[in-house]
Amino acid sequence: MIPVTSARSLSEAYAILHQRPRGLRVLAGGTDLMVAVNARAGLDRIGHVLDIWKVPELRGISGAGGSLRIGALTTYTELMRSREIATHLPALALVSREVGAWAIQNRGTIGGNVCNASPAGDTLPLLLAAEATFLLGGPRGERTVAAHEFFVGYRKTALGADELLLRVDIPLIEKSHLVYRKVGTRKAQSISRTIVAVRKLAPRDVRIAAGCVAPIPLRCRNAEKAVAAGGDVRAALEQDITPIDDVRATAVYRSRVTGNVLLRLLG
Ligand SMILES: Cc1cc2nc3c(=O)[nH]c(=O)nc-3n(C[C@H](O)[C@H](O)[C@H](O)COP(=O)(O)OP(=O)(O)OC[C@H]3O[C@@H](n4cnc5c(N)ncnc54)[C@H](O)[C@@H]3O)c2cc1C
Repeated sequence: MIPVTSARSLSEAYAILHQRPRGLRVLAGGTDLMVAVNARAGLDRIGHVLDIWKVPELRGISGAGGSLRIGALTTYTELMRSREIATHLPALALVSREVGAWAIQNRGTIGGNVCNASPAGDTLPLLLAAEATFLLGGPRGERTVAAHEFFVGYRKTALGADELLLRVDIPLIEKSHLVYRKVGTRKAQSISRTIVAVRKLAPRDVRIAAGCVAPIPLRCRNAEKAVAAGGDVRAALEQDITPIDDVRATAVYRSRVTGNVLLRLLG
């Protein structure tokens, strides 16, 4: 039997993190972790589960102080229903509607999507294009990591073994506009084949990010520079991405469709 600790506050969670039990795994909504557990994938590496679902400090959305602050335990359903999100970042509500079905939307969290760090995580290109920062915390204190520095390898993050993701912060930039397009195998309830997000600050000043086209969700800086210089955006994008063939799509499909989607989003 794997021991499970259900923390009721951040300090209770930090007390467990401080002890650093062997094979510690954090459990939020469980929609990624429990799938892996059911498949017995990496089960032998789990020595202790820290359940954070009832930690109140990790909930809530606010739009104060020039940034949108989203607690790590915010579910997709909460993102879809939030007035703050609808006002400041409606694209995040729209993409939440495209994640799984109701059961997943009620239980899956933005923090779980970030920390699971799948290249196909649907919120991640949006957070990268929106230049989000992640507030991490643990018994040693808090620190902020930019989204583009957080994803360090395939499903690997900058999160320390004794750290939690506490909050996602998104700078509110007046008159900027975030758009995205997810391409799946069908219109609903599908994992992305490619997903592209663009934050438009001015006609030639954009932030571009994509998922499913590299081992990590990534900022497409060559494409951004090509937009700024009026250059060949599709060719520049090819330098950013390294798509592979897998069960959902071929590398050629991903490359072509990602380029098509990006050009359409740029208008
Ligand atoms: C049927 C189904 C459909 C799905 N469809 C989609 C989809 O369309 N798009 C999509 O992007 N995803 C999809 N997912 C994946 C999943 O629902 C999301 O990634 C979700 O956001 C995960 O959140 P969670 O709270 O359930 O994470 P969990 O499963 O609890 O955790 C995921 C990982 O993150 C870590 N973690 C979680 N929270 C924290 C934290 N605050 N601090 C530190 N570490 C943390 C956990 O240790 C674990 O390693 C689907 C899953 C299922 C089962």
